[in-house]
Amino acid sequence: CGIIGIVGKEAVAARLVDSLKRMEYRGYDSAGICVIEDGELVRRRAEGKLSNLVAELASNPADGMVGIAHTRWATHGAPTTQNAHPHATDKVAVVHNGIIENFAPLRAELQARGRVFQSQTDTEVVAHLVSELIEAGKSPEEAVGEVLPQLRGAFALAIAFRDHPGLLVGARLGSPLVVGIGEGETYLGSDALALAALTQKIAYLDEGDWVVIDKDGPRIFDRDNNPVTREVTTSGASA
Ligand code: GLU
Repeated sequence: CGIIGIVGKEAVAARLVDSLKRMEYRGYDSAGICVIEDGELVRRRAEGKLSNLVAELASNPADGMVGIAHTRWATHGAPTTQNAHPHATDKVAVVHNGIIENFAPLRAELQARGRVFQSQTDTEVVAHLVSELIEAGKSPEEAVGEVLPQLRGAFALAIAFRDHPGLLVGARLGSPLVVGIGEGETYLGSDALALAALTQKIAYLDEGDWVVIDKDGPRIFDRDNNPVTREVTTSGASA
């Protein structure tokens, strides 16, 4: 339901949670974050209110300078901690808004290739599809560029890569996603409001666009994987 991603120059966990709070108005049934900490994908997730995630982080701290976060409004799979986003393999973590309509055949194909699923969500297929290509030696850009055309439905995605700790990938088709530009930091968000405490400089992705963000900013591609530029606007909204 709500997505945040931060490639930061300082710790991100508290800022991820703060940005999720700004999207509480959208409604949600569970929440979670994943940060890259000491070369590992570290996830913290909780059912129910964001205060449950805050409590989980208080007893099991996690921090790093790159991370993704999500508030979930369940469409496929009960609103449990196990089904809360991010969904992950040991190499890739994914948060997703919307629905992957062809998740059932994709899941069956992945299982036939030996992949083991941990949730009942439609989302988890994306983590496995990208992870397979990363494990085969592809770059994040190559992997995402190959996976997106296989997905049907409406989605916004943010993806973190254990072995590429300086970047995140975002994608949008039928569900909004914006890029925020900071000082030596770059952000992904479901909307500009979610990023209001982080930056006022926003690039709006077009339908079918996807983006690689790192500390230097975004590199945006269209649905045919061609590099494109999108206008950066400075909103007057205050934090
Ligand atoms: N379809 C996904 C799920 O049920 C994402 C739902 C959402 O937009 O929060 O987990």
